[in-house]
Amino acid sequence: MPEGDSLHRIAGRLQVLVGERVDAESPNPRGLATGVARAVDGRMLQSVEAVGKHLLLRFEGNVVVRSHLRMSGRWRVRKVGGPPWRGAPWLVLRTPRWEATQWNGPVLSLGDTPARNLGPDLLAPETVAHDVVARLRRTDQSRLVGEALVDQRLVAGIGNMWLSELLWHARISPWSRLRDVSDEALAGALGWARGSMTASVEGRRSARAVYRRAGRGCPRCGEVLQARGLGDANRTAYWCPTCQPAT
Ligand SMILES: [Zn+2]
Repeated sequence: MPEGDSLHRIAGRLQVLVGERVDAESPNPRGLATGVARAVDGRMLQSVEAVGKHLLLRFEGNVVVRSHLRMSGRWRVRKVGGPPWRGAPWLVLRTPRWEATQWNGPVLSLGDTPARNLGPDLLAPETVAHDVVARLRRTDQSRLVGEALVDQRLVAGIGNMWLSELLWHARISPWSRLRDVSDEALAGALGWARGSMTASVEGRRSARAVYRRAGRGCPRCGEVLQARGLGDANRTAYWCPTCQPAT
């Protein structure tokens, strides 16, 4: 699933359309059913921003389009005049020079309400790690760290992959309770994630230490890495039992 850094990268690519009036269409019937193309056709695109795992496209006349990619959705941007698309995008936004297409939804809607209930975006310039820690302290302290850090209402942008990586770097077990982890450790982990995700937005990707590496050796100590379901069913935590002992 795309995480906050992927969404920021997509927002960056879509900037070439900002300031332009767009022709919009929805070749895909499911895309058409969202009503998005009809609502934005002929309007000027004023801004595109990533907020957590949401992408918000603001058009003149206070029309806001929200895109959430979950597992399957994606965006493509290319110059006008390329070969015909194979398949039917949910949304095509076309300016005289650029063409942006959204594929497979699965969430493409008008209005930004769900994105307003998010915690601070970890990658936003104004977000400070200590403010996020303060927010984490206001939730139930018996919650597992591995669940709280992917709760988008507390802090937006972290998904499974970055969760596993940041906890390994900070030597925190995914099964530690919030109350058993110090402010300094949480701030350090968030600071590391912010730095690494920002580097990823800029195209510098680091090798994964633990994510999807269960059964292989820990890059730090050589112990066999573990994987186990954490919280809701489709979430798996990856960790090193030696570097990240349960507290
Ligand atoms: Zn280890």
